[in-house]
Amino acid sequence: MKILVVNAGSSSLKYQLFQLEDDKQDVLASGLCERIGIDGANISHETFEGKTFDLETDMPDHTIAVKLVIDALLSSEHGVLESLEEVNAVGHRVVHGGEKFADSVLIDDEVKAAIKECYPLAPLHNPANIMGIEACEKAMPGIKQVAVFDTAFHQTIPDQAYMYALPYELYEKHAIRRYGFHGTSHKYVSEQAYEMLGDQDAKIITLHLGNGSSIAAIDAGKSVDTSMGMTPLAGVPMGTRCGDIDPAIVTFLIDQENLSTQEVDNLMNKESGFLGVSGVSSDNRDIENAATQGNNRAELVSNMFAYSCKKYIGSYIAALNGVDALVFTAGIGENASTVRANICENLEYLGIKLDPEKNKIRSKDNLEISADDSKVKIFVIRTNEELKIALDTAQLV
Ligand code: AMP
Repeated sequence: MKILVVNAGSSSLKYQLFQLEDDKQDVLASGLCERIGIDGANISHETFEGKTFDLETDMPDHTIAVKLVIDALLSSEHGVLESLEEVNAVGHRVVHGGEKFADSVLIDDEVKAAIKECYPLAPLHNPANIMGIEACEKAMPGIKQVAVFDTAFHQTIPDQAYMYALPYELYEKHAIRRYGFHGTSHKYVSEQAYEMLGDQDAKIITLHLGNGSSIAAIDAGKSVDTSMGMTPLAGVPMGTRCGDIDPAIVTFLIDQENLSTQEVDNLMNKESGFLGVSGVSSDNRDIENAATQGNNRAELVSNMFAYSCKKYIGSYIAALNGVDALVFTAGIGENASTVRANICENLEYLGIKLDPEKNKIRSKDNLEISADDSKVKIFVIRTNEELKIALDTAQLV
């Protein structure tokens, strides 16, 4: 079965074409359209054989971008398809499914309307996701489309964990509550962890630590709490997002710095986190390098990040009434052994003991990095959100 996975942003569109056969999953081609609707638009494409194709061309909208993707996939020089009919379905990443979607769904008019109803909850992402869906519907009529939501996996979180202590009417009027994100990743890596543990009832804490980071508490396969909230701004400090702060700081900044709501939003989403505290970079590798060279603020934000992750682990052990495994994933979780060591430091009394040598192993495979006598298993598991979208899509069609 061939599944095209599409992740549409407001001015970009990422794609991967998967070939799925029983237990075998191959990427036939992948690529990226950038600067859609902006001067200097570009498509870059690569096949499994390493054939590449780059083209700077006009891309006024997502429909033209999808047409260019199809041309690349069908090309006699760098294509991987004889005919578009070989594509069985398209799987779309959709950021916000609100309270409507607890699973992936086949897209129809009703589903599109529900995704549009969630625009106020994800004003940057959902409109872009719809542009990607509608472009594919136009360019590939008759091919089934599936929506896979970032929020869906967390719909099992109980009300005591998803409600904010604001007037209840605001929940009823605006659906203000915790939704959580990175659901596709938390689900994918936890499924791998359940297989590695051989126990489907286990309690797992997954740490998706990348440019955006979130942590989830998972009980017997169900998400019961997560660090991101109504939006992806909440939780641990991130590349450029502040994570959890005292909410009164928002009105303080509006009053004292004379900032508009949009400016505060920008400050918290784009100018904070690793970048804001260090003044160096939003990228963890730059932060690690700067800290090694004696930059105090880079060291400070590194410590803040590890401390915040550690506090979430503690609170989720309390929420789960125990824990059987920790899972580290995404760019930082998979690669930054120092960060993993800092987060797990001194947690032996909770049964969490890292093996320092295993923690240093670099591998493309999933790893167990806990000490032999650690009560809690610690895993490094490679996330693959695109593959999970392809698998969900295949299952639905
Ligand atoms: P992601 O958003 O999942 O792509 O993760 C990006 C983050 O992972 C960036 O902050 C990178 O600096 C970090 N990262 C990637 N590779 C490494 C590495 N080898 N060591 C430390 N951090 C890394």
